[in-house]
Amino acid sequence: MKADNSHSEPIILAGPCSAETEEQVLKTAHAIKDQTPATIFRAGVWKPRTNPGGFEGIGLIGLSWLLQAKKETGLKTAVEVATAEHVNNALQFDTDVLWIGARTTVNPFSVQEIAAALKGTNKLVLVKNPVNPDVKLWIGAMERLRKVGLENIGLIHRGFSSYVKGDYRNAPMWQIPIEMKRLFPEIPMIVDPSHICGNRVDLQDIAQKGLNLGYQGLMIESHIDPDAAWTDKDQQITPRELKLLLQGLIWKKHQADKQFSQQIDTLREQINLFDDELIQLLTNRLATAQQIGNLKKENNVAVLQSNRWNEILNKMVEKGNSAGLNNQFVQAFMEIIHLESIRLQSTLNRTKTG
Ligand code: PEP
Ligand code: MN
Repeated sequence: MKADNSHSEPIILAGPCSAETEEQVLKTAHAIKDQTPATIFRAGVWKPRTNPGGFEGIGLIGLSWLLQAKKETGLKTAVEVATAEHVNNALQFDTDVLWIGARTTVNPFSVQEIAAALKGTNKLVLVKNPVNPDVKLWIGAMERLRKVGLENIGLIHRGFSSYVKGDYRNAPMWQIPIEMKRLFPEIPMIVDPSHICGNRVDLQDIAQKGLNLGYQGLMIESHIDPDAAWTDKDQQITPRELKLLLQGLIWKKHQADKQFSQQIDTLREQINLFDDELIQLLTNRLATAQQIGNLKKENNVAVLQSNRWNEILNKMVEKGNSAGLNNQFVQAFMEIIHLESIRLQSTLNRTKTG
């Protein structure tokens, strides 16, 4: 499979979070093969766990089960690698696709070691985004692989750790993969809704968002008996549920002559995401203004502080200017936000004193 943006076949990887037993691997692989259009069977055999003491992967024997699954079903196989030894083992067992996990992408030493071990192969290597929202680390990991001559590279968007508890296990922060796609339009982007969501109900929605943004594929965790899974059970679905999920998705076309409607859908989806972020930012800004209002009230300070406001306005107009934004627009935008802050602070004063 070439890392080529123009291919129209989506890349679908599916399989359990972890290889657990030979029976679980083979049963899951057969069900995925029989019921879904996935062509690559994934399973982790070395699991990076946050805390020691949990199941850290079945190890080498899992690779032999994957090979068996490949022989029986014809599916390609994919495994996570974090060290040169993992790479050598995976190559020995004829694994087709290797992916670098989010906790490994953050570490240039590890990525370099993996790149060196992969040198000279033509494996498809997928680089998950780093756990922290740092686009440079993601780029760096990919470039280490390219530098040793690897040409078959893809990216996996699996969401980012955030100290703010959000709706998902890992915050999607769509602007980061969008930026990666802008910088590297030739590298396929794959969405991993399982690790973004951390649950089963939002998988379809997140998968569709990825496709609307022009992603080329999906990696989804699927287990023959999700409730009994040894890792990540809350987010795994059965192969039958996977089939229904995939049937419900609207796939975008990726012809070389990129159709107008697909381009416009992608751009509209980006606009929607930016608008969502604007609302969130406005909410946070106004909540902070209200806290300031409380402080002013407690200290008997007037709501309107002209000096402070002029300072903000000048600074923002200047910033907007260097970002290429129109002065009048920035001024009007800031003024309306300021008015709303003052309104909120005054309401606060009235209700408290009234
Ligand atoms: C996985 O794919 O099972 C995995 C451990 O993913 P991540 O690196 O995204 O946490
Ligand atoms: Mn997992």
